[in-house]
Amino acid sequence: MPGTSFSYDFSSKVYTGKTSFKTGVFINNEFRDGSEGTTIDIMNPVTGGVLTQISEGTAQDVDTAVQAAKAALATTWGLKCPGAKRSLLMNKLANLMEEHHDELSALEAVDVGKTFNWAKNADVAAAIATIRYYAGWADKILGQVIETTEAKLAYTRHEPIGVVGQILPWNFPLLIMCWKLGPALATGNTAVIKPAEVAPLSCIRMCELIVEAGFPAGVVNMVTGYGHTVGTAITAHNGIEMVSFTGSTFTGGKVMENAANSNIKDVTLELGGKGPCIVLEDADIDKAANWAAFGVFWSQGQVCCAGSRIFVQESIYEKFIARFTQVVRSIKAGDPFGESIWHGPQASQQHFDRIMGYIQSGKDEGATVAVGGNRIGTEGYFIEPTVFTDVNPNMRVVKEEIFGPVAVVLKFKDQADAIRQGNDTEYGLSAAIFSENITKAIETAHQMQAGMTFINCNVSPECQVPFGGIKKSGIGRELGEYALRSYYTVKAVHVNLGLEMNIG
Ligand code: NDP
Repeated sequence: MPGTSFSYDFSSKVYTGKTSFKTGVFINNEFRDGSEGTTIDIMNPVTGGVLTQISEGTAQDVDTAVQAAKAALATTWGLKCPGAKRSLLMNKLANLMEEHHDELSALEAVDVGKTFNWAKNADVAAAIATIRYYAGWADKILGQVIETTEAKLAYTRHEPIGVVGQILPWNFPLLIMCWKLGPALATGNTAVIKPAEVAPLSCIRMCELIVEAGFPAGVVNMVTGYGHTVGTAITAHNGIEMVSFTGSTFTGGKVMENAANSNIKDVTLELGGKGPCIVLEDADIDKAANWAAFGVFWSQGQVCCAGSRIFVQESIYEKFIARFTQVVRSIKAGDPFGESIWHGPQASQQHFDRIMGYIQSGKDEGATVAVGGNRIGTEGYFIEPTVFTDVNPNMRVVKEEIFGPVAVVLKFKDQADAIRQGNDTEYGLSAAIFSENITKAIETAHQMQAGMTFINCNVSPECQVPFGGIKKSGIGRELGEYALRSYYTVKAVHVNLGLEMNIG
């Protein structure tokens, strides 16, 4: 048994439960210390103090996890386990998550700084829905019969890839774990997962639920630890056939490099964004202002598909800014467990510093602070929702992904100008369009260089609909039927029904 664990009595207004679990490396359905016996401190974003410790995994632990995952594939999972049984286990897991819905939500709140209510109603609810959705796919992974000639039967099998690596970010730990695990398990793969060391607690707790649901040992393994050690070991391991990564564009590049230099493993990358949110002059201004604020400030702005560049048509600019700044000023910040709190702290000191650096750069480069622009209080990682106006396309706050509660508002002349400015970014994850003229809105959406476009809404993914980007925002898709394609390999089978071969 590992030496590290986490016990917490939440004793708050909206959730009063307790939690207690081991925080070791999880291999073969057991928790253990990392091979070096060292630990990592997990910080409380509300106070900046130490919350608990987790085991620090190593490259050796990754190798042990890969061996366990391979053994499970050969004996109890993959082609050895019918899809209907995988489906049953996944549904059991979803039921257990539902039973522990509040506890998992409280873990996201205490570890990431998300508000308990959002964690409960968005993150964890969607995580459960994702596992259920993919449980439904597990016995529907179908190949094809392909007509060639009467003398041949040709068909395809969609077989599991093997051991897959899954590297998670800290902004939606449990949700993104389920986005990756759902399609991987449904298609019969085994997994070696690395949560982000900033916020791993809900993911570690999930491992206990995986055991309780009855998954065979070795199907899901989790090696906690740092990206430069555990992450690198996963991407470079020759026994891992595919890596699914969510995080920064910079690290995504390293993942590809290691994948190419090891066994040419497949990769899916879900990376950064600097999404445009376009408000056309025929938009409903009140609705657009609320959705625009949601799109950039939800989850403290730590959202890859955030609509952080807001473009407003000149003719309605003043009206929109008046309503938008009013909405932003009404956002209530404070303890994530507070009943009416909408805005918690950022996830880590390092990230807090990075965002404050961007806010300073906006001020230094001459942008106007229309709302916010400061830290909140003197303890923890709280930052005011911030709106910059009078910005230009060369400013860092306009060009670079801040991944925090910072919006920039720009003007455009007409639809063509909005499309040109909106697409003027190296990213291509998402775009949002607001207009009561649905034809114009759809026309604009189709012109956006983005993997996802939202019309008269913002940042609202669904587990049935593909999620992912183009340009520097990534490769491949999470969610929906499309995500399954990343997790199976296609085997063609040719059966001779009467072709003669006579040589000599
Ligand atoms: P990273 O991309 O560095 O981290 C994401 C995950 O990758 C973490 O689990 C991290 O481990 C791991 N990792 C780090 N280095 C490596 C490596 N060499 N090989 C394999 N895995 C690695 O993001 P940061 O946490 O540093 O955040 C920086 C910025 O990235 C944010 O400000 C934001 O712009 C963007 N980001 C985007 C996300 C998205 O949803 N698309 C999510 C998170 C960040 P470790 O546990 O050590 O952090």
